[in-house]
Amino acid sequence: MTTIDVPASRNYQVIVGKGLLSQTGSRILPFCKGNTAAIVSDETVWGLYGGTLEASLKAAGLTVIHYTFPAGEASKNGENYLKILNFLAENKLTRSDALVALGGGVTGDLTGFVAATYLRGIAYVQIPTSLLSMVDSSVGGKTAIDLSAGKNLAGAFYQPSLVLCDMDALSTLPQEIFRDGCGEIIKYGVLYDKVLFDKLLAEGFSFDREAVIARCVELKRNVVAEDEFDTGARQKLNLGHTIGHGIEAQSHFTISHGEAVATGMAIVARAGEKAGITSGDTVDAIHEILEKFGFPLTTGYSAQQLFTSALSDKKRSGGTVNLVVPREIGDCILLPTPVGQLQSFIEAGLA
Ligand code: NAD
Ligand code: ZN
Repeated sequence: MTTIDVPASRNYQVIVGKGLLSQTGSRILPFCKGNTAAIVSDETVWGLYGGTLEASLKAAGLTVIHYTFPAGEASKNGENYLKILNFLAENKLTRSDALVALGGGVTGDLTGFVAATYLRGIAYVQIPTSLLSMVDSSVGGKTAIDLSAGKNLAGAFYQPSLVLCDMDALSTLPQEIFRDGCGEIIKYGVLYDKVLFDKLLAEGFSFDREAVIARCVELKRNVVAEDEFDTGARQKLNLGHTIGHGIEAQSHFTISHGEAVATGMAIVARAGEKAGITSGDTVDAIHEILEKFGFPLTTGYSAQQLFTSALSDKKRSGGTVNLVVPREIGDCILLPTPVGQLQSFIEAGLA
């Protein structure tokens, strides 16, 4: 078991290990001074793990209520957000009670935004059950719902009180969703940690899950501690995402997020090499690791198509897009790129 302290506007711990789900009751008590815990989960995850979680909370003396919604990104919407708020109000949850998000990033983002706004803020605990949510979305306090104009357009920075990453939950995660999370793990290696990168390159899918997840959480913790509100260093986590979002959007989301980000990293690295920023060895290493995990090295979409989607990216500020470009493995820079040069930059990376 590994415990990682996150220093932010609220300090909290992320615990990575086995058997944590059934310990939730005793671990949540310091954050739930009232007597009710409200679990929010998607129907798939609730069916797999709801019973264990509920039993653990009840054994700690808590009253438990739960709200479930259909699994999938389409549920991360204003309708569910309001339904959950009303559900909490009808059940007279107070500010001394707590929410528990049991599920992947959709559940965590939605529950976090409810927690940020119900009674102007109530404690919440993240129990991420997908690889992506363990290494990324459950840590750092970005909460959100999607609007019809785009993903994550309404939300708040609101840190959880505790994050429990139970390795046992990964046993039921479908392989393609596990692989999706690997795209983000590779990203951490390229951004900050050559040792992690080399380990993933050597071990492929059989990497030591607990050690790798704990390392990724540590890396994310460092970024959040430095730039909780995403005005500088945190933007580097966007590596592969500007072009990746373009690929996802152009495919009408039939290409998964992790795969799109992985391909986005390869494109930005090749473009970076042509611009004299990225070393040739780095491009080769990124190609090699993407092949190891079965991610495509490029896309059939044109630079113009990707450019159009990239322009609607949230990370744009004024006439400039902050691209993240690797120099070496473990060393990336923010490259403010004028919108007028973005399409030709992407074009250079496609070849
Ligand atoms: P998700 O929550 O939809 O989970 C993916 C699928 O896996 C769902 O069908 C879910 O039911 C299933 N699942 C989850 N855990 C399972 C388990 N243990 N066993 C079996 N099935 C399981 O999506 P995700 O990929 O976890 O997260 C994507 C979301 O995270 C997006 O909405 C994205 O915007 C958000 N996100 C947020 C941040 C942040 O910082 N807040 C960062 C990255 C991504
Ligand atoms: Zn991502």
